[in-house]
Amino acid sequence: MRSYLCVFMTLFTLNGLLSLDFSYHKYKELTVILKNYSQSYPKLSPSLYSIGNSREGRQLWVLELTATNKSAIGTPNVKLIANIHGNEAVGRELLLHLIEYLGENYGTDPTVTWIMRNTRIHILPSMNPDGFEKASEGMCVGEHGRCNLRNMDLNRNFPDFYVKNMYPSQPESTAIQKWMDKTPFILSASLHGGALVANYPFDTVKELTSLPINPPSISADDDVFRHLATVYANRHPKMHFGIACPDGGKNFTGGITNGAAWYPFQGGMQDFNYFKHGCMELTLEISCCKYPPARDLPQLWEDNKEALIEFITQAHRGIRGTVYDSRTEKPIPKANMKIIGREMMFNSSQNGEFWRILLPGKYRLQINATGFHSDIVPFEVIDHKNDLPQPTILRIPLFHTSLPKPTAPPPKPTTLFPPHLFTSTYPPSPAPDTKNYTKEIRDQNIYDNPVKLLRRKSNSGNWPSTNYVVFCIILTVNLLS
Ligand SMILES: [Zn+2]
Repeated sequence: MRSYLCVFMTLFTLNGLLSLDFSYHKYKELTVILKNYSQSYPKLSPSLYSIGNSREGRQLWVLELTATNKSAIGTPNVKLIANIHGNEAVGRELLLHLIEYLGENYGTDPTVTWIMRNTRIHILPSMNPDGFEKASEGMCVGEHGRCNLRNMDLNRNFPDFYVKNMYPSQPESTAIQKWMDKTPFILSASLHGGALVANYPFDTVKELTSLPINPPSISADDDVFRHLATVYANRHPKMHFGIACPDGGKNFTGGITNGAAWYPFQGGMQDFNYFKHGCMELTLEISCCKYPPARDLPQLWEDNKEALIEFITQAHRGIRGTVYDSRTEKPIPKANMKIIGREMMFNSSQNGEFWRILLPGKYRLQINATGFHSDIVPFEVIDHKNDLPQPTILRIPLFHTSLPKPTAPPPKPTTLFPPHLFTSTYPPSPAPDTKNYTKEIRDQNIYDNPVKLLRRKSNSGNWPSTNYVVFCIILTVNLLS
């Protein structure tokens, strides 16, 4: 009951409004907060679900937010994870504040509104709740609480790109793997502490060596990863300076680093995201102190808020589309795909959807699916300069092997999505009415009116009064239960 009272009190602190306070919240408090968030922002259709249990039986809660139609085809899924290391506590709290920020600013802030109308965001504030319960506020360094109950480092517990991982799989990392089997994530971040740098794959190397300087372990999408890391570091007021942490850390040029160039290790989560699922994940080290005093949290939130928002927009960079049977128009799941020149395969989803984050340029997409002629589709990703990213959209028919493969018609410009999807008027973004599209169109770009990256006004915190009342009722029920 005491913890519930704490939550109740902390929600009424800022300016007398219903706002989350800047303190650390243990598992029971976290659970109450997430349950209440799940009923507080109906325009974002919040959905609270658990991807499994920790070793000690705590739920691994995820809150999903989106203003899209849940059945819309092609909406990218983004996930944000914190607290994989239980004693790295800042991200856990910042993600709670991010939920509140998205909920409060939807409908008033243009960028937040655009994101929520075009993206599904899944937030897992604590991947290692057992470790967090053991960790102590104020402990800037050390390992106490880092691992799970079995003393396993969860960021060494994933299948590795180069070697077989010999550590027994833990429930927390197994839950992430099952989650990723079900949801086609395209972009992800894992929030850590103990340094200030945006770290990108690979962490793993073919062979661990003891050289004085660690060489980078370059992936096929190194340009994309460097871009994503730079987006975060540049939007962070300090990270991009790359200055070492006071306790003797390393300088990072531009505030970014290849994982192995910092220090190589095997079994990491970001590598797994990339090579197994084509999900671009960064490891974001967001505070020099792993578990700083709560009084530091407001500044840490201010430092990371804009960077998190801009990072999420990157899910719309590159291409997306669908692969379907030319005869039946049914989607083709698990089509095997790669961007030629980038030796990293990825698959279409159950709905035949695919996504790939790419920088501006000309590319060719190779597609193979059992029972169909393989195909190669050229396309271009347009540079929209300072506007919000806009994907090139492809709708690709594959021809059954029982049929002769037709020659490709010449590319024609088309609009596959409603023409005003990306305008600044922010209409709802319904699923594309694919029946109206000509079947022979195979490889075209779309680009509508560019959207300016509007500056967001500061957190307004102006909840509608009805939400306030509903929230109070829910809290009271929790208190009495
Ligand atoms: Zn960590």
